[in-house]
Amino acid sequence: MREIPALLPLVGADTQVPVLDGDWVTYANLDGAASTPALQSVADRVADVMPWYASVHRGAGYLSQVSTALYEEARTEIGAFVGAREGDLTIITRNTTDSINLLASVVPGKVLVIDVEHHANFLPWQNHPQGVTIVVGSPTVTATLDRIEAELEGEAYALVAVTGASNVTGESLPLDRVIAVAHEHGARVLVDGAQLLAHRRFSLAESDADYVAFSAHKLYAPYGAGALVGRRDWLDDGPAYLSGGGAVRQVQLRDTSWTDGPARHEGGTPNLVGAVALAAACRAIEALDTKTWHEHETALRDRLVSGLTSIEGVRIARLWVDSDEPVGVVTFTMEDAEPGYVAAYLSAEHGVGVRDGRFCAHPLLARLDLPLGAVRVSVGLGTTSEDVDRLIEGLRAFVNGQIKGDYRLVDGLWHLENDNRPLPEIDGLLALADTAGICAPD
Ligand code: PMP
Repeated sequence: MREIPALLPLVGADTQVPVLDGDWVTYANLDGAASTPALQSVADRVADVMPWYASVHRGAGYLSQVSTALYEEARTEIGAFVGAREGDLTIITRNTTDSINLLASVVPGKVLVIDVEHHANFLPWQNHPQGVTIVVGSPTVTATLDRIEAELEGEAYALVAVTGASNVTGESLPLDRVIAVAHEHGARVLVDGAQLLAHRRFSLAESDADYVAFSAHKLYAPYGAGALVGRRDWLDDGPAYLSGGGAVRQVQLRDTSWTDGPARHEGGTPNLVGAVALAAACRAIEALDTKTWHEHETALRDRLVSGLTSIEGVRIARLWVDSDEPVGVVTFTMEDAEPGYVAAYLSAEHGVGVRDGRFCAHPLLARLDLPLGAVRVSVGLGTTSEDVDRLIEGLRAFVNGQIKGDYRLVDGLWHLENDNRPLPEIDGLLALADTAGICAPD
């Protein structure tokens, strides 16, 4: 089979990790859907800017002027990347979760959400003071759209909050249809772009969506920023999201006049490095040839799916039987093997990093009847065919019983017993951490 190289260089692409038999292998990072490493161009841009770092929006010094200009230029670039219209606001946040919580704090009416969402696009709405309807998805796109339409016909909604790409399966509803039907009934649309923007072009202006939320750490710029971009009026009318310095015009002892625009919701010192990094990532992705980008991802995804389907007992999860081509995120289960076991084995014996668990999408995993979760593999700009092939070979060895280590479930997490893989020489690193974390299948 033909070799597929990475499309763009990522920091850490050559990082070696220890495996069970004492060897070190190049890490096969197939977990970009959780967090992507930085693009080399992003890290270079950050290094270029650091000597000029100073306070943003709060300083008369030359470097403060430079930093403030860099921050505002980054904002413009980030907005342009998602097709911000004239009058739209681009608010720099911490991540998608922050962006959606911010929007939730200003939405003036009832919200409609579908049960396929990541918790970040579910929990801010679950007990929304203006009310919420949770539409349970059906196994077909057509029926799911019908359910959404029926809800919108029956009642007035301010907002439909919908994923641009599922973090579980990479699928989405046809956004143009959701947006058209929402607008027809007077509702706005938020697109959760966390998984979308690292895989597909998206434009507010072209799609007519009203808001998009996304995270830099899923877009090759892991420096702590995210963004909410979209219609200005609700954001100017709603309460300041973070009370503090920078969000005000005038403060008296008992009364405050809040500013409007992005600063209203960006209380505290802005994350210059995060914004500059995100803008650099936007620039790098913008410069990709769309066809080449799509071909790279599709070739890797096809190879992954055909490899997985050739292995006995592997079942790939899908939300809809009739959805369009998903982005490069694939989730599967294996007969008679817990996902956490498979993931621990892949890491310890093959140097392959994947995600297991319920992916912060508990309602969806419950509906898909995956109470123990699943294994998720994701491909992106830095993925090579070698990464995918190593995963598939590892899984083949697994089903053939070629498992060298002993693995045990301790407190809900799978561990390699007698793990004596050496630690990398990083100052201050004392031990490996349990990585399943707060979204674990507990
Ligand atoms: N939405 C989706 C679809 C996601 O995949 C994620 C992250 N897994 C989020 C929202 C939340 O992103 P963050 O953790 O960066 O806030």
